Amino acid sequence: MFHISKDQVVYAMSGANPPVLHVDPGSRITFEARDALAGQLTSESDQFDGLDWSRINPATGPVYVNGAEPGDALSVTIEQIEIPDSGVMITGKNMGVLGHIFEENSIKIIPISGEEAIFSENIRVPINKMVGVIGVAPAEGTISCGIPDFHGGNMDCKEIKEGATVLLPVFVPGALFALGDIHAAMADGEICVTGIEVSGSVTVTVDLIKNDPLPLPMILSDTHVMTLASHEDLDDAVNMAVINMVSYLETRGFPKDEAAMLLSIAGDVRICQVVDPKKTVRVELPKQYLAR
Ligand code: CA
Repeated sequence: MFHISKDQVVYAMSGANPPVLHVDPGSRITFEARDALAGQLTSESDQFDGLDWSRINPATGPVYVNGAEPGDALSVTIEQIEIPDSGVMITGKNMGVLGHIFEENSIKIIPISGEEAIFSENIRVPINKMVGVIGVAPAEGTISCGIPDFHGGNMDCKEIKEGATVLLPVFVPGALFALGDIHAAMADGEICVTGIEVSGSVTVTVDLIKNDPLPLPMILSDTHVMTLASHEDLDDAVNMAVINMVSYLETRGFPKDEAAMLLSIAGDVRICQVVDPKKTVRVELPKQYLAR
């Protein structure tokens, strides 16, 4: 079992980032993670003006996976997510779907008790712990951890939770995998710009699928296979995720037209988030339909 401290973070995914750990495929690693605001907001009386935006969206890592080469897929199974007993939400001017109607910024500290987030005296919301930022280094250049793209990143997908396996394309030797941005709860859309942002730790098993080039990230759950795509335009993100699912079904022996029809009746197109620089959608197909 390996462990990476929350002090070993990157703010952008890049092949130039020096790895903080080298592991063999099959290794279990616990990542300590800061929250998406790097722990800068701990009270509802904190001031936004003091926020250091250069420290937003830290991801812990990166990890070099021995043997990973461009054209492989990295398989990351989320074994456990541990969170503290409170988290923070923000919204306000130019943030999220309603950013144009707010003049003031708001901070809300939300206590977490057992399996519930205590939103107010009368409203308790079940927690759905998930990992917001998870990705690898892109083929070239640098991508801020706040941006989701082909390499993963800030996809803010609530299906990236305990038990799920995230498949990521490998673009550089070692993959340079990193994660962060834990949410105690988030709904599809993430419309105010945050879930319940928490620090915590995420234990994963990383594995390697050799010579399996993936165009985009995918998720395997106990029940579903999912394709993910991110784009500035939601329509384009939908098209990319659908086309990738059709391609996946073709590899399972489905002709294109049959894949399209099956998705039209059994494959749900869902929104992950619409508030990051690129929006993320997913297509979910129950695994039971994969055996044509
Ligand atoms: Ca996020």
